[in-house]
Amino acid sequence: MTLVDNLNTVRSQIATAAGAAGRNPSSIRLVAVSKTKPASLIEEAFRAGQTLFGENYVQELAAKAAEMRSPVEWHFIGHLQSNKVKYIAGLVTMIHSVDRLSLAAEIDRQWGRLGRCCDVLVQVNVSGEPTKSGTTRDEAVSLVREVSALPHLRVRGLMTMPPFFDDPDRARPYFRELRHLAREIDELALPGVSMGELSMGMSGDFAAAIAEGATLVRVGSAIFGGR
Ligand SMILES: *Cc1c(COP(=O)(O)O)cnc(C)c1O
Repeated sequence: MTLVDNLNTVRSQIATAAGAAGRNPSSIRLVAVSKTKPASLIEEAFRAGQTLFGENYVQELAAKAAEMRSPVEWHFIGHLQSNKVKYIAGLVTMIHSVDRLSLAAEIDRQWGRLGRCCDVLVQVNVSGEPTKSGTTRDEAVSLVREVSALPHLRVRGLMTMPPFFDDPDRARPYFRELRHLAREIDELALPGVSMGELSMGMSGDFAAAIAEGATLVRVGSAIFGGR
């Protein structure tokens, strides 16, 4: 299988999962997770029509972005240290992994210096696993409230990483929980907060995430191969 074959397979699986859930496939965006993969492969995916890429590591993203010739769109999806935000300021259109106010404040400061706004998702550790990043479910509402007060950030929704299961159906309750939490937050009608985006689902479980309402699926190895 070539990268283009993989990409087409993932696209058709997204369409099938959307159809089964009675959803329009165009309501789901594919974030091609290109961490550890060279710029040449990202160019290849771009030629096959993939314009949105997700990266986890600041230095790697900055280096690859400088190397790319095609106008790709980047999302930052990994754990982010505040002192590194400056290296991706203005480079990414969305940060999926805001899990604490201090990080949000630094994103606000860096985007503010550019006179721009950054779209962010609040990452929630729905399962409560101690090894996972993300705010707790209980603290999510207050974090969204605090982040929404920052002038250069726009909260667009929530992101989660469920525990790993061999059977993707077992991840579904965590995806569902994120959707319910987003609805609860939406009902608060906080100024400047939208809950339109749910970033959930990876190579092994994106179909299950789509069944539960994912609007952004973050797929790496199913497109680019193993790491
Ligand atoms: C690596 C990564 C992905 C993609 O994982 P695959 O299993 O390769 O699809 C998605 N989201 C996050 C946050 C990641 O770190």
